[in-house]
Amino acid sequence: MKGPAAKRFDVIIAGGGLTGPTLALALSDAGLEVALCDAEPLATRLDPSFDGRSSAIAAANWRQWMALGVAPLLAPDAQPIRRILVTDGPAPGPSAGAPSPVFLEFSSDDLGGGDGEPMGWMIENRRIRQAFAQVLAKRKVAAFAPAAVIDAVIADPACRVTLADGRVLEAPLLVGAEGRRSVVRDAAGIGTYGWDYGQCGVVATVRLERDHEGVAHEYFLPGGPFAILPLTDQRASLVWSEHKDRARALVEASPEAFEAHLARRFGDYLGRPALVGARMQFPLSLQMAERMVGPRVALVGDAAHAVHPIAGQGLNMGLKDVAALAEVIVEARRLGEDWSSQLVLERYARWRRVDAAGLAVATDLFTRLFSNDHPALRLARGAGLALVNRLAPAKRLFVREAAGLLGETPRLLRGEPL
Ligand SMILES: Cc1cc2nc3c(=O)[nH]c(=O)nc-3n(C[C@H](O)[C@H](O)[C@H](O)COP(=O)(O)OP(=O)(O)OC[C@H]3O[C@@H](n4cnc5c(N)ncnc54)[C@H](O)[C@@H]3O)c2cc1C
Repeated sequence: MKGPAAKRFDVIIAGGGLTGPTLALALSDAGLEVALCDAEPLATRLDPSFDGRSSAIAAANWRQWMALGVAPLLAPDAQPIRRILVTDGPAPGPSAGAPSPVFLEFSSDDLGGGDGEPMGWMIENRRIRQAFAQVLAKRKVAAFAPAAVIDAVIADPACRVTLADGRVLEAPLLVGAEGRRSVVRDAAGIGTYGWDYGQCGVVATVRLERDHEGVAHEYFLPGGPFAILPLTDQRASLVWSEHKDRARALVEASPEAFEAHLARRFGDYLGRPALVGARMQFPLSLQMAERMVGPRVALVGDAAHAVHPIAGQGLNMGLKDVAALAEVIVEARRLGEDWSSQLVLERYARWRRVDAAGLAVATDLFTRLFSNDHPALRLARGAGLALVNRLAPAKRLFVREAAGLLGETPRLLRGEPL
């Protein structure tokens, strides 16, 4: 029996989160017919209560969004990150509670461009979603929402996707950008491996009494890392990783109790922090797809690799995937190749595999090394941080890597159109 008639596209992207729309823009700008499907209605995704997080966007990915016309809309709400201060927990012994004297400092000057470009930008996720909605409304991208991909048949020469509302789409390339529970990944028979950290990231936005001067602070505490990330309007986004039961208590505590607890963590160098908006918690785990591509299928973002937010690199990795995948597809198409074939998609996987796996290993190592109060480890960490802090070339390398400027960077990450 014949199924319902399918609408045809060049590419179907499952997932209209943060990576999916970036890929949709890049490919539609290059002349491809793109369908972008998300399970949630657009209005729900734009509501401030949908995702209280903010993201640190690396310099290279900001350049990509500049090339795609999204960054100019974000600029008024984007806070440049000028410095990062990493502190190894509160001091032990008689001065317990005060910040440890052992720290590591990174600065935009370590980027080495000499043009004052910050190493990254802090932006609320809801602002990013709003900017994409505005830009996508003016482009030729077919948006399907609410329309969860509930079934996908991966086939040659075209994949067939069924949406929750019964509509059927077909395209020679299907991209899974729907996060950790990727339906596309499952349909392609791509397995995952990883583990749970037993931690949740508690996220909150606070108003500060003093100017943060564009400094991001990361404290390594025994329960997990605690980050204070600068936002516009003298606000900061907190990502407080804690054991799951303590995280729940933090979210459920009264605002006054939470603020009092916060004040003890903060110290008083930024004045007393006041909560703005809701607190949310996100379970933290590592999840890596065994492969990033299959026949007529590619994975980007958390669908391919989801990591601990300790280094603020999860989305940045996903956006690098997008830049590499878009360039591989557009180049192959220009050369008249079968651009959605596995042979071509393997170029994307080769380009991204090592970087993604390396970052996953590094974040996992940092999370284990620093979510720990063992005295010997503490000593070794302190010595390591102090050493790196004195090694200017190592710091430069680290800052350039975090900014996404090392290695063979795709054109979009250099701010160039495809
Ligand atoms: C507390 C915390 C702080 C973080 N901070 C940072 C940071 O500062 N910098 C950074 O780089 N990263 C950060 N990250 C990581 C970052 O948030 C993720 O890597 C990023 O959201 C992944 O984007 P994505 O588009 O791949 O997936 P998602 O953002 O998960 O989007 C997936 C989308 O797919 C949709 N969807 C799901 N299933 C389906 C389906 N079947 N069909 C259609 N649509 C579907 C969902 O509705 C959603 O809109 C942080 C993560 C956490 C938990």
